[in-house]
Amino acid sequence: MRKPIMARIVMKFGGTSVGDVDRIRNVAAHVKREVDAGHQVAVVVSAMSGETNRLVGLARDVARLHDAREYDVVVSAGEQVSVGLLAMALQDIGVAARSWLGWQISVQTSDVHGAARIEAIEPEEMEAQFGEGRVAVIAGFQGVSSANRITTLGRGGSDTSAVAIAAALKADRCDIYTDVDGVYTTDPRMVPAAKKMDRVSYEEMLEMASLGAKVLQTRSVELAMAHNVRLQVRSSFDAPEASANGNDIVGTLICDEDEIMETEIVSGIAYARNEAKVTLREVADRPGIAASIFGPLADAAVNVDMIVQNMSADGKTTDVTFTVSQDELERTLGVLKSATTDLTFADLQAAPDMAKISIVGVGMRSHAGVAQKMFQVLAEKGINIHVISTSEIKVSVLIDVDYVELAVRALHAAYGLDDDLAG
Ligand code: ADP
Ligand code: ASP
Ligand code: MG
Repeated sequence: MRKPIMARIVMKFGGTSVGDVDRIRNVAAHVKREVDAGHQVAVVVSAMSGETNRLVGLARDVARLHDAREYDVVVSAGEQVSVGLLAMALQDIGVAARSWLGWQISVQTSDVHGAARIEAIEPEEMEAQFGEGRVAVIAGFQGVSSANRITTLGRGGSDTSAVAIAAALKADRCDIYTDVDGVYTTDPRMVPAAKKMDRVSYEEMLEMASLGAKVLQTRSVELAMAHNVRLQVRSSFDAPEASANGNDIVGTLICDEDEIMETEIVSGIAYARNEAKVTLREVADRPGIAASIFGPLADAAVNVDMIVQNMSADGKTTDVTFTVSQDELERTLGVLKSATTDLTFADLQAAPDMAKISIVGVGMRSHAGVAQKMFQVLAEKGINIHVISTSEIKVSVLIDVDYVELAVRALHAAYGLDDDLAG
């Protein structure tokens, strides 16, 4: 049989996929399969599952308000262990491999500790490894700032490391191996009837990721779209020998919209728990008032999501409602109460325990009545909508967190996404 033409591929393995020694051996077998097929391989790995959470917990226990530079030193440590272990496992089965930390490659980033952005990656060291016939095993989630400090890319950031490395290496493929076998119409752990998609457009994936589907970090999709990286999500639990794919799709391919023949009007549903709603009652209705609320919040680096402004009955004042993540609620209230601007209001109300549910689909651009159906379905289930926001290809609603599962399941069925074969 003729050997396939040699390709350059990036393989990324998430936390569950390297969760224990047996799984690391399984990952090594997946890598060996590609090496044996004649490919040049760079592997990006996350920390073993649970490890990053443990490290974040340690940092919080030592000091609630800690130095972000030291946070990065601590939480990046998990990946150092998994790259070393995977390089050993590869060597153990006769595959030449060497591990590399972010600063050694180097993966240069901005200096926003805890949420750094990759600015440049030098491909030379990895290419030198390929030249020597070695697999480069690279720590995901981390880089180095211009001040020569270790940085991390935000939770789930190894996906972004992998895509950025694929772009820098001009790789033929970037395969994201995880604990599900592709991108589904919604989180398959919540909705057993969710369907795996063979293809999903960059734009839809970008919305799904940013609206809560954690299967890919949002930034990784942005980078893949900008650099035209052929990105695929697939399972690390498939038997390594049996999952050679050549150039076929075995999981879900993230690609341009015009590569997809048929699209549903709504292709996916995402949810995000951990949202909080803040309402300012009877704020003076005059120019500059929005700036006086959101300016101080922006200065305090609070990320505001949905915003609604409404007139009160007297016509002189307005009510402003917006959402922030629950983790930022305390800080938000502090900023508003101590705002030194001329911001005055009658009352400040906060509601934690909210969730955002979103329907996503490029088909919405050309179809009417999509949002109305969402409101109808939620009404039939007796679920109250607190805030609504829309864009060209998505509709999001804020509801009480207790109703997340009910809402996602009902919407999934109503938009015809349920897999008929699912038990
Ligand atoms: P990894 O550790 O491999 O990076 P993650 O836990 O970050 O894995 O992401 C995979 C998880 O994403 C799945 O286990 C699944 O529960 C969740 N998920 C949420 N939405 C979706 C979706 N639409 N399709 C597939 N998985 C999803
Ligand atoms: N280990 C990091 C995290 O848990 C990065 C990743 O898994 O992608 O967030
Ligand atoms: Mg992840």
